[in-house]
Amino acid sequence: MRIDQHTVLYAVIGHPLGHTLSPVMHNRAFEATGENAVYMAFETDRLADALNGMRALGIRGCSVTLPFKTAVMPLLDDIDPLARAIGAVNTIVNRGGRLAGYNTDAAGALAAVREVMEPSGHRVVILGAGGAARAAGFALKEAGASLTIANRTPEKGKALALALNATFAPIDDLRGLPADLLIQATPVGMHPRQERCPLDEALIQAPVVMELIYNPRETRLLEIARRKGAAVIPGLRMFIHQGAAQFRLWTGKEPPLEAMEAAVLAALEHP
Ligand code: NAP
Repeated sequence: MRIDQHTVLYAVIGHPLGHTLSPVMHNRAFEATGENAVYMAFETDRLADALNGMRALGIRGCSVTLPFKTAVMPLLDDIDPLARAIGAVNTIVNRGGRLAGYNTDAAGALAAVREVMEPSGHRVVILGAGGAARAAGFALKEAGASLTIANRTPEKGKALALALNATFAPIDDLRGLPADLLIQATPVGMHPRQERCPLDEALIQAPVVMELIYNPRETRLLEIARRKGAAVIPGLRMFIHQGAAQFRLWTGKEPPLEAMEAAVLAALEHP
């Protein structure tokens, strides 16, 4: 890779960044499409300074991760209407010093679902009411799905259900609730506690099951769903598609999905 005076810089900001997979994914995408660009990870708790640095240095785009996805919004110049409705920004585009915020988690979730089914007119149960559940919920609502939110804390679940014009169901009441697609949007089952599963086996009944966790690649929930004959959508699909949507916003080019996936898989195998 050649770095010269024309090289454009992109970054991810957040803390902790842990083993973020975004740098390997985006750098491989730049390489595969011949973009003269580099993507770096900046772990920082100085959000406002980081945004001023972005403006001052002409950093062309940023991924925004925890804990800044909501806090960043009042510091931006423009916010895409979908990101505004979701209440979270995960992507910034720097247009000549004006910073615009987008949410590509929503597009990523929808693209991952569409690899397996068209959600319009289907019944979708989302487990969780945090940022990822909100993004997936808004995308699926826009796509015409009918939604039920199930969440551990009923107040949060009901608030999201209200925002989405969806119904709320306590997790214990999922038995007998018909669903064409179940979306798992809690961190239960994530590394290093991958033996955990957020639902009783008897409640995993949908013919399509989507997991948002991508470490491990195959969670206990997906294992059970596969065993029961469901079609499964692993969390990596959403991760790659949200990155692909970022790449489109930043470069205006079609993202090289296969190269991005290969880079992420290699990084997961050799952390
Ligand atoms: P978040 O905002 O912290 O929300 C977490 C949600 O999970 C809340 O609804 C919370 O319920 C629920 N929860 C947490 N611990 C629980 C437990 N022990 N039992 C039952 N429910 C529990 O997190 P997030 O940002 O939405 O992320 C959720 C997951 O999605 C994470 O695993 C994250 O890695 C993944 N994610 C994946 C992608 C992707 O591209 N694949 C993108 C974003 C996020 P309460 O309301 O009761 O606290």
